[in-house]
Amino acid sequence: MRELILKYVLQSSILKGGKPYPKGVMGKVMGDNPHLRDKAKEIYRLIGEICREVESMSLEEQRRMLEEIAPEMLVEDTRERKRELVLKNVKDRVVMRFAPNPSGPLHLGHSRAAVLNDYFVKKYRGKFILRLEDTDPKRVLPEAYEMIEEDLEWLNIGVGEKVVQSDRMEIYYEHCERLIEMGHAYVCQCDPQEFRVLKNQGIPCRCRDRSVEENLELWEKMLDNSLEGAVVRLKTDIKHKNPSVRDFPIFRIEDTPHPKTGDRYTVYPLMNFSVPVDDYLLGITHVLRGKDHIVNTEKQRYIYQYFNWEMPEYIHYGILKIEGTVLSTSKMYEGILKGEYRGWDDPRLGTLRALRRRGIRPEAIYRSMLEIGIKPADVKFSWENLYAINREIIDREAKRFFFVENPKRLKVLGAEPRTLYLRMHPDRDLGTRELRFEGEVYVSDDLEVNRMYRLMELCNIVVERVEGDVIYARYHSEDFKILRRKRGKIIHWVPVKDAVKTVVVDTEGRERCGFAEKDFKNVNIDELVQFERYGFTRVDDKREDRIVCYFAHK
Ligand code: GLU
Repeated sequence: MRELILKYVLQSSILKGGKPYPKGVMGKVMGDNPHLRDKAKEIYRLIGEICREVESMSLEEQRRMLEEIAPEMLVEDTRERKRELVLKNVKDRVVMRFAPNPSGPLHLGHSRAAVLNDYFVKKYRGKFILRLEDTDPKRVLPEAYEMIEEDLEWLNIGVGEKVVQSDRMEIYYEHCERLIEMGHAYVCQCDPQEFRVLKNQGIPCRCRDRSVEENLELWEKMLDNSLEGAVVRLKTDIKHKNPSVRDFPIFRIEDTPHPKTGDRYTVYPLMNFSVPVDDYLLGITHVLRGKDHIVNTEKQRYIYQYFNWEMPEYIHYGILKIEGTVLSTSKMYEGILKGEYRGWDDPRLGTLRALRRRGIRPEAIYRSMLEIGIKPADVKFSWENLYAINREIIDREAKRFFFVENPKRLKVLGAEPRTLYLRMHPDRDLGTRELRFEGEVYVSDDLEVNRMYRLMELCNIVVERVEGDVIYARYHSEDFKILRRKRGKIIHWVPVKDAVKTVVVDTEGRERCGFAEKDFKNVNIDELVQFERYGFTRVDDKREDRIVCYFAHK
């Protein structure tokens, strides 16, 4: 019984940041084990007792214990979260789409829609459609089609079907023609400025009343390139409360060659036309999009009405504010062309490939986006939370090493040489590493004269003097308590002999040079390691003379 309750208490506590909530535990125990109801009183007493025990443990210890006794309960989403992540109006098979513009690889902002669509599709055993929205030839980057697919694969998102909008031009044309025939759309040749002035006053322009025949003729001319400066507009409500909805454009002429279709087409649908047409034709049942799309949804509603189509269910979630990284695809691209960034995976960028290079695991991004969920309130993205989830994932596998940045030589006088065998991981068997101490080491701190320090895992020393680049210290003692009494500081160190030259590229793209201990040379590219008291890094490259790592987080 204790064992059973302990699992629930630990789970509750971990979810609540280290303090269990007895009433919640009781609810869950009873909910999952209804046969215990007649012992409720006794069980509640036991829960109180166990809660007190668990409360006195650190969160880390709690997590470790739960992992040991019931790892299945360390679930990625709490039941509460699962309850909130449901779709309304699920009738037949759920079909959802993720519809990025192929102007660059995916970034953190995209990952929310990608992950949540995938989550729902998996939850309801539906279909995930990847739709590449490339009907603005100016904003298409040819490499992006493939990069987006790679990014989704990395995130472990199961794409059921792929649709490329530039393959569907004839479908859009056909639907436009039908709208013109029904009298719901017209070709407008007004100067855009003039149109805006009229529209803002709720006055129709002179093109609005043209006959269907005239409109069809002009539309044909647009398609054969013999009409310039025209657009097709949808007849909405010229006095609509939001001026942008009033007769908004659905097609325009664009001469820029398209990376996929070249100059075959010069008339392109605008998003508020191609999106609803495709959503309908592809059988999309639920559309997840940001609140910034609410007006677009309102515009798109007209298309559904005119074709007499049933609208999908829309979920408009709050805006996710992501600070501390570059997310604008055009800014990233400009910076790459200028040589300011090393590429799409420069650590300053918020692309998935940059995060991957830094050692952020796809599961961490997935979980962090699920936690953000689909609530309508705006949210600020928490890097700390992403890092905490990532740390939880990689901590198990990351080998520990000593690394010193900005190395300084330290000579310890009066100390016997010795060899230390340290664990690669504090509580998992990942092997041992050997540190041979012969009196000369690298340290990264500026040490104060006359102060006591402890070379981590080794001995206490007192600094005597600094001569040029070399610090001299004298061996003092072994006992850790002496260090504490003297208010000394623990520092990490790397033996000078066989030190491995190491560069850590930080999140600002700066190269931080230093030395890692000898056994670090055996790591593999792509491996995640923890430099003790420094942080987690991903091994990016092993060169003749150095190892390059990318910094993930503390
Ligand atoms: N391609 C659009 C975007 O990425 C589609 C969004 C939508 O219709 O929900 O913003």
